[in-house]
Amino acid sequence: MDDDLEADSSAGQRRKKAAWLRAVYERNLAQCRAADTADAPALARKAHTAMDAQLQRDSVSVPEGKPIRCGRGCSHCCHGPVEIWPQEAALLAQFVRDAGLRPDLARLERQSHYTVETWREQAVADQACVFLDHEGACSVYAARPNTCRKLLVMSDPACCDVQQGRTDEIDRWFSWEAEMMEVAALEVFGMALLPRLLLPALQQK
Ligand code: SF4
Ligand code: SF4
Repeated sequence: MDDDLEADSSAGQRRKKAAWLRAVYERNLAQCRAADTADAPALARKAHTAMDAQLQRDSVSVPEGKPIRCGRGCSHCCHGPVEIWPQEAALLAQFVRDAGLRPDLARLERQSHYTVETWREQAVADQACVFLDHEGACSVYAARPNTCRKLLVMSDPACCDVQQGRTDEIDRWFSWEAEMMEVAALEVFGMALLPRLLLPALQQK
C-alpha cells in the first residue's frame, strides 16, 4: 500500500472509531436520562451490575500474556481522588449503615476540601480512601463506585504507587464501553469527589 492509501485508510478507521464511540456515548446518555431516580441506591446498584457485566464481556480483549494485575490488598489507586455521582454516594451511605461501618469522618471532612488537582497536597495518610481497611482491602467492595470497578492495569502494581515515580509505566486495560458508560453517568447525574458527596449522604437519615 502506498503512503497516501495507508494514510486514507487509517484516517477512515479513526473516523469509524469516533463515530462508534459517539454512538456508545449517546446510547448511555439516553439510558441515564431515562433512569428512574426515585430510589438512588437502587439506581447505583443497577449501574454497578451493568458495569461489571460490561467489564466481563470486554475482558476477552485483554491481550494474551498480559493478565490484569489488580487484586485484593493492592491499594495504591485507593490513595487518589475518586469521582463519583450522587446516587453512588447514597448507595455507599446505605452500605455503611447496613454494615455498621464507622468511616473516619474527620478525615472525610478534611478530604472534602481537596480537588483532583490538590489531592496530593494532603498528608500521605490523609490521601487514603476512608474505606480502605488495615489489610489494604476495600471495606465497601460490593458497593464500590464504578470509577473503582473499571480501573484495571496489566502492569506491575508497584507502578501505581505515586511515591515510586513509575506511573508513566502504568499499562492500563481499557474498556471503551465502560468508559462511555461512566462518562455518561457523570454527565447526567453530576459528579464530585467521593468525600464531598459522601459526607452529606452519611448525614441523611
Ligand atoms: S490499579 Fe494498580 S494499585 Fe489499583 S489494584 Fe490495580 S494494580 Fe493495584
Ligand atoms: S471505594 Fe474501595 S476501591 Fe474505591 S477507592 Fe475506596 S477503598 Fe478503594
